[in-house]
Amino acid sequence: MTRTHATTGDTELRHMRRALHLALEAEAGGNLPVGAVVALGGEVVAEAGSAVLLPFYHPGRHAETEALARVPASLWPRSREMTVYTTLEPCMMCAGALLLHGVGRVVFGALDPLGGAGEMLARLPAYYEGGAGAPEWIGPVMPELCDPLFRRVLAGFDALPCGKSNF
Ligand SMILES: [Zn+2]
Repeated sequence: MTRTHATTGDTELRHMRRALHLALEAEAGGNLPVGAVVALGGEVVAEAGSAVLLPFYHPGRHAETEALARVPASLWPRSREMTVYTTLEPCMMCAGALLLHGVGRVVFGALDPLGGAGEMLARLPAYYEGGAGAPEWIGPVMPELCDPLFRRVLAGFDALPCGKSNF
């Protein structure tokens, strides 16, 4: 696993801005403000916002898993070339999904020091020893815009059945 703070190029910033737009769109629709874009060869091949709260409560419908589910199946043989852009550092579930889908890179806007899976990727099961096969983990690349979204996600998440208020 590599964790870097590399600056992204124009195309990457465009994808991040799209993810941000999807996050705000999700929030306007009553969901948590997280957005994700899957890009291949510089083009967007799938995108989604969080759908945890609406149209009905479903704790597994994170922006990243929603976007992965929308990738055309014919493109999966090229998963190593894919980058997932997301407004928030992926959680354990999404990091697991990204790893098992063979996604090559993850670029995230805001660091999640409470639930982000970056630390987990440093201690993977034996098959992935040393981070082998794990996506390159790049971020936070847009904290000034995405940190406020993270704070709103956290405020909404704590009260959910899967959140801290119900531990
Ligand atoms: Zn997640």
